[in-house]
Amino acid sequence: MKLYSTLDKKIVEIQPNKEGEISMYNCGPTVYYRMHLGNIRAYVNWDILHRALLYLGYQVKRVMNITDVGHMTSTDDFGDDFGTDKMDKQAEKEGIQPIDIANKYIDTVLDDFRALDIIAPNGKEIPNDLTHEKVSEFGWTRATEYINQMIEVVKRMEERGFTYETKQAIYFDVTKIPDYNIFTGQKLDEKKVGAREDVGIDPEKRNPADFVLWMKKVGKYDNHLMNWPSPWGEGFPGWHIECSAMGTSILGERFDIHTGGVDHIPVHHSNERAQNIGAFGHPVVKYWIHNEWLVNKEDEKISKSKGADSLPEIVKLGYDPLDIRYLFLSVNYRTKISFSMEALDGAKNSRKALLNKVRELGQEKGKLLEKYVEAFKDDLDNNLNMSGALALINEMLKSENSSEDKLATILDFDRVLGLNLNQAISEDSQEYKEGQNEELDSLLRQRIEAKSSKDYLKADALRKEIEELGFKVIDTSQGQIVSKN
Ligand SMILES: [Zn+2]
Repeated sequence: MKLYSTLDKKIVEIQPNKEGEISMYNCGPTVYYRMHLGNIRAYVNWDILHRALLYLGYQVKRVMNITDVGHMTSTDDFGDDFGTDKMDKQAEKEGIQPIDIANKYIDTVLDDFRALDIIAPNGKEIPNDLTHEKVSEFGWTRATEYINQMIEVVKRMEERGFTYETKQAIYFDVTKIPDYNIFTGQKLDEKKVGAREDVGIDPEKRNPADFVLWMKKVGKYDNHLMNWPSPWGEGFPGWHIECSAMGTSILGERFDIHTGGVDHIPVHHSNERAQNIGAFGHPVVKYWIHNEWLVNKEDEKISKSKGADSLPEIVKLGYDPLDIRYLFLSVNYRTKISFSMEALDGAKNSRKALLNKVRELGQEKGKLLEKYVEAFKDDLDNNLNMSGALALINEMLKSENSSEDKLATILDFDRVLGLNLNQAISEDSQEYKEGQNEELDSLLRQRIEAKSSKDYLKADALRKEIEELGFKVIDTSQGQIVSKN
């Protein structure tokens, strides 16, 4: 399979460490707020990648972390609002403990993933009754459950001379990694000096780009709520260390793919790569793969701070979560998506049209259309060319092949698309049979007459009346099919 490797700056053929098997780490959710659509885009992208790898015949070993420990700002060790921890702050706001905040928002992540038909990192469907209590059985790793492993990784870096200690923290010394800025190509002294000059929090910090591995419960963090004992005193881990510790704990010292958003490149992933080299003596990750942003009309990244919509807000506006999935899966992960209600309406209509076409194929499954299966695989293989795959599906549905074979083939493709097409068809098995509702029967008969006399306006009006009774009618080559709405 070919993917865009950020380090190679080009599309490369993925050559896994173990033939036929892909190990993958996804930077996962931070759980002190409900995911926004920008977050969701990443998870839909990596869900599609996982499914595509399975479709192409790979074994997939995947984990996704859950950042459930405080101190988790993305760019600065001491946070935008200096000294406050977002998890602590949210706990205070909601009047509960940080761990309860984490548990609460893990459950909302699971709700959103389920609604979006996202599979668990272990490749299984997310069961309806899965909550925060058992996420580790499904391939998620919670930072709070890997504190010991994080301490071990920091100790390894310390032994190898990559760290230094101040009164406030243990830092990683980035000057010890000559190609620390390999992702961005910046020179070290150029790195965000401006942003740091006015911070000046820890006078003992040596270089602006050095980052915290372990924060001590002192000074501004004296009242920090979640703390653990460590060789450097009571405190809590820096944000970046969790990914190095959990990735290597589960996938080993060399694994294939590490994903994240493009916003992770300059800091989080640069730091993670440096930690890996510091602790293990070699880069751990073979391919860093990044998804582009979801942007608004002004081309600004949609994120929590911009107050973007969550999935429940979108559903309240009358959309199906799978409309969002369709929108995100139809665009390559490397392309910015400009989010708007018009774009979402477009996805909704396309998904509806696809469902209708699938329903028209009937219920009988035939055999796979190999020519299309091969072309579909080519699209997946080609850096996840999903727009190509969707165009291929339309071509296949329009082709002269039998409905039975088309149905078998598109349901097979849905292993990657995750649009619940199978369910759409079985819903139709609740087909309405004549004789149960007189009013409906009369409307249906009138509609057949209207259609045979080519009075389509009347047929459409009758369709609306039928819908008002709670039924939907679909025209197929075998006549109209009616089912409960
Ligand atoms: Zn990460």
